[in-house]
Amino acid sequence: MSKTLVVGAGGVSHAAVHKMAMNSDIFTDITLASRTKAKCDAIAKSVKERVGVEIKTAQLDAMDVAATVALIKETGAELLVNLALPYQDLKLMDACLEAGCHYLDTANYEPEDEAKFEYKWQWAYQDKFKEAGLVAILGSGFDPGVTSVFATWLKKHKLKSIRQIDVLDANGGSNDQAFATNFNPEINLREVLQEAKHWEGGEWKFTPAMTHKVEFDFPGIGPKNMYLMYHEELESLSKHFPEIERARFWMTFGDAYIMHAKVLENVGMTRIDPVMHNGVEIIPIQFLKTLLPDPGDLGEQTKGKACIGDIATGESLEGGEKTYYIYNICDHEECYREVGSQAVSYTTGVPAMIGAAQVLKGNWVEPGVWNMEQLDPDDFMDMLNTQGLPWQVHELGGPVEF
Ligand code: NDP
Repeated sequence: MSKTLVVGAGGVSHAAVHKMAMNSDIFTDITLASRTKAKCDAIAKSVKERVGVEIKTAQLDAMDVAATVALIKETGAELLVNLALPYQDLKLMDACLEAGCHYLDTANYEPEDEAKFEYKWQWAYQDKFKEAGLVAILGSGFDPGVTSVFATWLKKHKLKSIRQIDVLDANGGSNDQAFATNFNPEINLREVLQEAKHWEGGEWKFTPAMTHKVEFDFPGIGPKNMYLMYHEELESLSKHFPEIERARFWMTFGDAYIMHAKVLENVGMTRIDPVMHNGVEIIPIQFLKTLLPDPGDLGEQTKGKACIGDIATGESLEGGEKTYYIYNICDHEECYREVGSQAVSYTTGVPAMIGAAQVLKGNWVEPGVWNMEQLDPDDFMDMLNTQGLPWQVHELGGPVEF
């Protein structure tokens, strides 16, 4: 018997909660709470129709610690899965500490008034979680999440150490929208428009956003332009695998996406500071989110595949240097058929479910605050294969040249 409280009822939550219900031997009792209860009820209805499992729903403002503590106690939850927004991470961690509940999320904390995500705020909770005998798992999505588990699996089974790593994220999906993001538009645009940053030679190297472009032939998708950008797993991987000489993150974007993002930025629509409009204070990027399509609703019209993985080079367990490419290919239409989500919600929601299962199965329960690469990868990797995100690993001829 397990009790799980999921917070947030957007695109990622839709996929995660369906997959939890499909694994009701592990997730025996699920409550879904969010700011808008109607969104929880819609997911619960879909879960009942598709999977035949009843889940409970509740209204919750996750910024209200006392309300979250009360809900954790009322539901008896032993694990809180945070699928709301990065702004809520610290409040939900506070609530978990007060109520005695384990914690898991998919994105690191970011202050609402500054587009700067960093682990320092959540890492500062290490002692508190240890002392409380509770576990906090950070970043159990695909990237971060699976990409970090891939690195740990390579380090456990193929490489003694990792000298360089590139995380490659390709979305070869298309929909009939002129401009849409794959997940929450506000969080997505804040991330994409940041200065690019990668780890090299023991320090961070900076490049202007969206300026370093390379074409790569992605398995299952074909050649696509990918751009160097900063992503949160670079911070934790370079800390936890100190032998890494270079760590980079790449993501594909079509020309139309780049053009829209640049125009929106140039005219001020991605600003995160308040501006006065007709006597009312608005935050332009939040208004923009209201205008843009909800990524959670794009499942039916999205076609094509996503391919996300790592290329890592290092000293092989057998001796000599080797390079491996480890990745998953995910089909948007198959995801939609299975749970009613597009592949980006699915590739985030399924690892959130698998990470949560690791806690509930007793595999990842050492008290403390952990990034995914610090945890044993084996059962997580097995579950990826059985839960819809099968992976492949191939040896390449040598380190990547781009
Ligand atoms: P959505 O915007 O679709 O969903 C977010 C949900 O959180 C909404 O239901 C929203 O409620 C709810 N929410 C927001 N604020 C509060 C609050 N104060 N109290 C309670 N609920 C709140 O986002 P996505 O599903 O696209 O993304 C969810 C998370 O997943 C994000 O943190 C994102 O960064 C992360 N992510 C991680 C990835 C990875 O691979 N690691 C990849 C993609 C996303 P309402 O709608 O009522 O406002």
